[in-house]
Amino acid sequence: MRFREALGRISPYVPGKSIEEVKKKYGLDKVVKLASNENPYGANPKAIKAFKSFESLHIYPDPDPEDLRQKIGEYVGYEAERIVVGAGIDGVMENIFKLFVEPGDRIVIPIPSFPYYHILTRVCGAFDVRVRRKRNFTIDVRSLLDAITEKTKIVLVCSPNNPTGNVENEEVVKEIVESCNVLVFVDEAYGEFSSKNLLRFAEYENVVVARTFSKAFGLANLRIGYAVVPEEIRKEYLKVSTPFPLSTPAKFAAMAALEDRKFLKFVVEKTREERERVGKKLREIGVKVYPSEANFILIETPIKSSELAEELLKRGIIVRDCSKFIGCNEYHVRVSIGRKEENDLFIEAMEDIVCS
Ligand code: PMP
Repeated sequence: MRFREALGRISPYVPGKSIEEVKKKYGLDKVVKLASNENPYGANPKAIKAFKSFESLHIYPDPDPEDLRQKIGEYVGYEAERIVVGAGIDGVMENIFKLFVEPGDRIVIPIPSFPYYHILTRVCGAFDVRVRRKRNFTIDVRSLLDAITEKTKIVLVCSPNNPTGNVENEEVVKEIVESCNVLVFVDEAYGEFSSKNLLRFAEYENVVVARTFSKAFGLANLRIGYAVVPEEIRKEYLKVSTPFPLSTPAKFAAMAALEDRKFLKFVVEKTREERERVGKKLREIGVKVYPSEANFILIETPIKSSELAEELLKRGIIVRDCSKFIGCNEYHVRVSIGRKEENDLFIEAMEDIVCS
């Protein structure tokens, strides 16, 4: 068989280890997963109810659900005509890439960032041009603008950034957006957890702001993402999207979740509270913690991240060793913020490993 040449430069996306896998391997009864930035409070109960209420599973769903786009539009402050949906931000991003990226093009990625950006770029036969972030992990705007050429199609701006947790400086985003006419894809997967968002940049003709129901809304398994896009992009988007990207039960769940702001508020407040508490405790035991506005923190550990991750696994805690993330070092570990009791187990384990 003659597979595409580009595949030789791609490794599959590595998801966080599953609880079942770790229980089995280490013979543990209780395992806590703090590796995939999932919502530790679960899905909104009203969303679960709405999801279960739909039984016509033999019927294809609406390819471009107006009712959901309307509700999302109200939530983000843009017209429904400016909203596109997809199978998670991953699916939305794939469609946007299909619209713009041709083999040989360049995609500019400030590193470190979300690993799937590199994979998708290469799948499209394009080059992932890496621009190292500054020490505080904000984008180095000079280097980024220098990296843009005629072949550049998309610049990726993740805020809060995965895996570093920092939000991007608005002045920096303004400068990028205004000084190049390439598409700026703003990924706000963790936007709800942050004190600042970049939604206002969706007013620009060359900006897409993507968001998801996977994180603060707790619906990761349903694969619902969306983006605010210029109208011109929306028209083209429907040409490249798979015919039925969103199931009706998923749509119902998303709509119910959007209606129940109380649950969202609870999740966000609890996460922020716990994020500060976990950060403080770790700093007390001498672990370097980077400031975060997301539902995870990046830490720099005194022992190699692969060893730390392994020691934590033995104690039933799954975290993300970031040493293989492009742009990270071998001491970087990303830890999702869980429920209080989960975080306590993590802190205890860290004390045990770091202080012994
Ligand atoms: N962007 C970032 C920065 C992420 O961390 C993730 C999830 N890991 C995604 C996008 C993908 O999210 P979704 O579940 O909406 O596809």
